[in-house]
Amino acid sequence: MSTEYTVTIGLEVHAQLKTKSKMFCGCKVEYGAEPNTHTCPTCLGLPGALPAMNGEALRLTVRAGLMLDCNIPEVCKFDRKNYYYPDMPKNYQISQYDQPLCLGGGVPLHETAYPKDAQKTIAALGKTIRLTRIHLEEDVAKSFHLESSSGIDFNRAGTPLMEIVSEADIASPEEAFAYLTALRQILVYGDISDADMEKGQMRCDVNVSVRPLGQKEYGTKIELKNLNSISGVRRALAFEIERQIAFVKAGGKLDQETRRWDDDRGETTLMRIKESAHDYRYFPDPDLLPVRTAKLVEDAKAGMPELPQAKRERFVADFGISEYDAAVLADDASLADFFEKASKDSPKPKSVANWIINDLLSALSAASLDLSACPIQPASIGELTVLIEGGTISGRQGKEVFAEMMVSGKAPAIIVEEKGLKQVSDTGAIEAFCDEVINANPASVADFKSGKEAALNFLKGQVMKLSKGKANPAVAGEILAKKLAQ
Ligand SMILES: [Zn+2]
Repeated sequence: MSTEYTVTIGLEVHAQLKTKSKMFCGCKVEYGAEPNTHTCPTCLGLPGALPAMNGEALRLTVRAGLMLDCNIPEVCKFDRKNYYYPDMPKNYQISQYDQPLCLGGGVPLHETAYPKDAQKTIAALGKTIRLTRIHLEEDVAKSFHLESSSGIDFNRAGTPLMEIVSEADIASPEEAFAYLTALRQILVYGDISDADMEKGQMRCDVNVSVRPLGQKEYGTKIELKNLNSISGVRRALAFEIERQIAFVKAGGKLDQETRRWDDDRGETTLMRIKESAHDYRYFPDPDLLPVRTAKLVEDAKAGMPELPQAKRERFVADFGISEYDAAVLADDASLADFFEKASKDSPKPKSVANWIINDLLSALSAASLDLSACPIQPASIGELTVLIEGGTISGRQGKEVFAEMMVSGKAPAIIVEEKGLKQVSDTGAIEAFCDEVINANPASVADFKSGKEAALNFLKGQVMKLSKGKANPAVAGEILAKKLAQ
């Protein structure tokens, strides 16, 4: 990216709240249901139907606000945002204008939130992206454009939606990626939203501008639409920034426009030029009273989950694992939970972390399995490390046991028993193996005695072979060395 230009990015994220019912009626919220099966007069916007607030949606938004360090004003209210669109039958959307539920706050970015290939070159490690506000609103219906007609599914109409508006603090596509990843983590941790962009549970509008380095005044703001994955946001921004810089360098003057990202072609194309700011004629919804937030804040504080940041720090302090490993484990709340359960009875949490990060995650990805479908119980990973640390099996045998655990889900001790894998640590048995090897390999014994250290490894290898891999290698090494020194 050019170093002669400053890039300014702001994101508006819409996250669907994890409620059972819609924002202002009792209709069920269900992803992928038969179209128009979850509707009623209120969410269809029929005349005379009255809205009733969903308390759970308010509580979840306040929880999000507290987790993101926002200020929760004492009173919030709902307003009507007036515009016409076929997917919005009331001709207005119920939203929050000048008195939203949450103000300020921020999303701290951490190393593993950045794309893997960019983690070594993070420009501002430890940066926090400030938030402007979070407000609550209802979602619109979904339009489908078919070959010769269009259809509208009102199942989504009225679904509770949280809009999280960032300050224009984001300076690169990689930071935008880290911001969305870290924000998503917090929403999932708080059980506030599943925030899956591919399912449309988290959607994001991007504003981006460039200006020559040192220029105070912002460049022309361009909005990007149709972004449906976090990596797509990164790619779209990278393309758009290059495009804007090239255009400005060539003497062009950018228009304020909205562009669509085409992920297959890897480019943005013009959708429309913004001629003027839309006047939504906001006014307070006369059917909904303002909300006092004190009780909501009290309830949310009582049920606050641990933040990802706090979990990372606790993992380092309590389990003695590296900061990077702690971050990888804490990036996913269910993986973090798995690790904690697995470490409970293990003498070596560091080795539990290694098994999970190096072996379990790659085995799951090779089998295209989610952690929720993992055949291995967390306690089994803990038990595996106990067997290895205690010398019952070798590390190499551990790999064999792990592979079998992945297939059958059996406990490691049972697999060790069934496969006859027990490592021989009984010194009597190992001494017999050592004697046999020493007698059978006089040349190597002579080599070792004349100072060739490598000969010991060869002899040790022979002992392992003779024991069919079951001898404890450390014990075998010790006994051999002792015998050869005689
Ligand atoms: Zn309804």
